[in-house]
Amino acid sequence: MISRSTIDKVFETARVEEVIGDFVQLKKAGANFKGLSPFTDEKTPSFMVSPVKQIWKDFSTGKGGNAIAFLMEHEHYSYPEAIRYLARKYQIEIEETQQSDAQKEQANARESMYLVSAFAKDHFVKNIWENEKGKAIGLSYFKERGFTDETIKKFELGYALDTWTHFTDAALDQKFELTFLEKTGLTIVKDDRKFDRFKGRVIFPIHSMSGRVLGFGGRTLLTDKKVAKYVNSPESEIYHKSKILYGIYQAKQSIAKEDNCFLVEGYTDVISMHQSGIENVVASSGTALTTDQIRLINRLTPNITVLFDGDAAGIRASFRGIDLILEQGMNVKVITFPDGEDPDSFAKSKTSEELQYYLQHQAKDFIQFKTSLLLKETENDPVKKAGLIRDIVKSISKIPNVIQREVYLQECARIMDISESILFNELSQIFKKESQQGTSKPSATSHTPFTGIKRDKKTLAKVDQLYNQEKKLIEILLLYGNLEVDFVDYVQETNNLGQKFMKKEVYTNGVANEIYLHLQEDEIEFTNPIFLKIYYQIIEQLHQKDSIEIENFTNHEDGEIAAAVTNILMDEEQYSLSDWERHDILVKSKESKLSKLITDAIYNLRRVLIEQKINSLVSGIPNKNSTTSAASIQTVKQEDLEMVVQYTALKQLLFDKLNRVL
Ligand code: ATP
Ligand code: MN
Repeated sequence: MISRSTIDKVFETARVEEVIGDFVQLKKAGANFKGLSPFTDEKTPSFMVSPVKQIWKDFSTGKGGNAIAFLMEHEHYSYPEAIRYLARKYQIEIEETQQSDAQKEQANARESMYLVSAFAKDHFVKNIWENEKGKAIGLSYFKERGFTDETIKKFELGYALDTWTHFTDAALDQKFELTFLEKTGLTIVKDDRKFDRFKGRVIFPIHSMSGRVLGFGGRTLLTDKKVAKYVNSPESEIYHKSKILYGIYQAKQSIAKEDNCFLVEGYTDVISMHQSGIENVVASSGTALTTDQIRLINRLTPNITVLFDGDAAGIRASFRGIDLILEQGMNVKVITFPDGEDPDSFAKSKTSEELQYYLQHQAKDFIQFKTSLLLKETENDPVKKAGLIRDIVKSISKIPNVIQREVYLQECARIMDISESILFNELSQIFKKESQQGTSKPSATSHTPFTGIKRDKKTLAKVDQLYNQEKKLIEILLLYGNLEVDFVDYVQETNNLGQKFMKKEVYTNGVANEIYLHLQEDEIEFTNPIFLKIYYQIIEQLHQKDSIEIENFTNHEDGEIAAAVTNILMDEEQYSLSDWERHDILVKSKESKLSKLITDAIYNLRRVLIEQKINSLVSGIPNKNSTTSAASIQTVKQEDLEMVVQYTALKQLLFDKLNRVL
């Protein structure tokens, strides 16, 4: 592991504008830099970097964060990969944390396995371009398949000569240890004999997301049915086939840019599609799709399009894998090919325009696809149709998002020509069963109780208001929390004549402190979980250091916090994208009216909370127990009514205060 002090040094040294400048043309604009979004094709700049805050934001996609986040987003590095990249860029020596001897040995072993795999890849590639037999056999095979030189080079395709130890000898000659040749499966050792696993096969190297060679697939050139057509690297410390997608390294930029990933079956499908100009494509390589593989794609896009060969049995077999995709909250489309065709053969028989047209126009939503497919199979068989309904609703139940689930149910009801309520009923039964078995996921959204089709628009608006007010307060805390401001309050007093009047009081307080005191006094808690987290951390910093340090948030290890804070800070800068001069004035006048801004924000939050309270009392909802007798409902209503009166009075007082301070 990289030591804490190295990470700190990287953070201190790296300048976000320099790091991004290596990838995006940045132009100075006021206090910031702007440029064209590297995540979309755009003509007017919506990408902004703040050297002061050391963060960036892409207003066209909503992405943003610090330098590390940029590298993770743009280069698709993992966190440690990004740190290592920056350390290299700024010539910072990487210090690894103390490792036990066993850990060191394991890390070294893994490193050796990577090195031997890289060597093997180079060896196989060299065979194909420089060795006479390699050219005659390996290269001509790929050419016959229709692959161009460019394609063969792009995927680093190779060939293993058809002799027992050509590769193993070359590796040992270069002082690679036999243990690592064996561990990676490149060499098979039996007693004291050894031989090359991939002997006589054409080679497809399998890369990690960041481009390291993890393993290989090798295809035989024999037509002998007894010889396995494809042989793959065995599971090892660096090759876990359930966590790997073939082509992800060559596809990642395009997947992110197109915001979609095509999923195919094998190596040749990926390569042929690339050659036809479709680069956002990966293969699960013969194995059933796993959750780890889906997450890999989810890092780049929430949209997957699964491409099926023509046979129905294969399609049904993959339904389970597709449910796994739905479970991740991703959107799934499917495309089928004519009988007997796979993406490889189809791509080859069509021009690239025809292929693109086909992909664009054949994509069907998965749920709709599954429904119509099964519907055909169960025609005129009511028993089977009932099973089908359960099957479809089961798929839909995997979708974590409530609204999306509802939309799908409605759609399926339409396709199957049955009433929506039957489907809703089926769904709630599935949920009930799951919660009884304790199998439902802990994720907040998947747990959301089912509420029915019609969403109350008013409630949604209320939720938004609350969110906005909470966001406003967090924004003020982050932007102005450290400032001292003169506050004004009006308190009710009675004069000598017994008349009540409002007296104006002015006092100085720190902004964060003022907000903290108010919220504490009213026992107000943030309802948004991320705002709540940020708020707690702000208060903690305030208690410990007497000031708020923004970098602690934009560099926060909790990605959600870092993203939320970056968004808030950069939204503030957004004005400056179009109008740089006015920006300074805007901020200055904002600061001069700070005291009012803060008091308003606090009062407005209170007002929204009170309104919510009143509304929930008026509609008499809080009592969900349907068993309550008529009499007790009566008394509850009476109490509620009194509360409503009290809250309304409070609301009036708040309005008075708001108006006076105005
Ligand atoms: P052919 O030239 O006969 O069409 P192919 O090399 O295109 O052969 P297919 O049998 O068409 O192979 O299979 C398509 C894809 O499925 C291949 O690119 C390969 O990645 C994958 N595949 C097939 N069989 C296996 C296997 N046994 N192990 C791993 N992957 C396989
Ligand atoms: Mn084929």
